[in-house]
Amino acid sequence: MYAAPRFTAVAVVAAVLSAATLPARGDEPKPATPKEARAEGAEAVPGKEKDPGAPSAASRVTVEIDGKKVACREQGPQAFLVRGSWFPKATDADAVKAGRKMLEDAIKYRTEKYGYFEGFGSPKGNPHPPKHYAKSTSFMGMSAQVHEKIVAPLKCVEAALKASGAGDEYKPRAMGGMRFHNTYKGVEVSNHVYGIAIDIEPDKNTCCGCVKPWNEHPLCKKKVKSVFERMAMPKSWVDTFERFGFYWLGHDVLADTMHFEFLGDPDKVVESP
Ligand SMILES: [Zn+2]
Repeated sequence: MYAAPRFTAVAVVAAVLSAATLPARGDEPKPATPKEARAEGAEAVPGKEKDPGAPSAASRVTVEIDGKKVACREQGPQAFLVRGSWFPKATDADAVKAGRKMLEDAIKYRTEKYGYFEGFGSPKGNPHPPKHYAKSTSFMGMSAQVHEKIVAPLKCVEAALKASGAGDEYKPRAMGGMRFHNTYKGVEVSNHVYGIAIDIEPDKNTCCGCVKPWNEHPLCKKKVKSVFERMAMPKSWVDTFERFGFYWLGHDVLADTMHFEFLGDPDKVVESP
């Protein structure tokens, strides 16, 4: 299994870097109400809001879970879990306060759903640490440890990649999953510690808004029109992940192109029988 090197992503550093070196901030998610939880850039059926209860027949993806064939539900990320929502560009006190409140809500939610990580939130929400729920899983021929609740959404992404042919466009050889220490500094806690984030082939899909060595990748120096030109993974993969509740951190000021995190509702991953 790939052991992801440490990188510290400090919001302040990211903010400073973003002004000078990062792609247009139009790539970032915009805060939205939970109901409108759709990351900017997420692929939606044109002119049609995705209804998690009714995926179109053409895009219907089925997977086998515990020996049963189930249909995957499509969903977007929940907006209050998107890190771009926590640090508004505006400097007025109310916006900053609202962002901080969302971060607190996100920590509470992740604790309840995925486990208590020491130093963040309260063990009252969940007495177990995330590693209590760790499971080894395979994805596109690679393997990693993740939270048991994201095994199914990953299977949905894999099935959709294979069904659409996107799986043949790109053959990554390594991925990272759950971590047991927080790689963020300050008030943030990485979704890797909850087991809900994965990194796809970090040496080829870099993070130009992160600290060294990530921001030293030759692709970070290249002048580009889109962040997609700074990575090996094709956009079709990003689009496919986004259908099933994963948020791509390539949209963020960090431009962390290797990184997907499951920000959907883990209780709405598959259709109820
Ligand atoms: Zn990551």
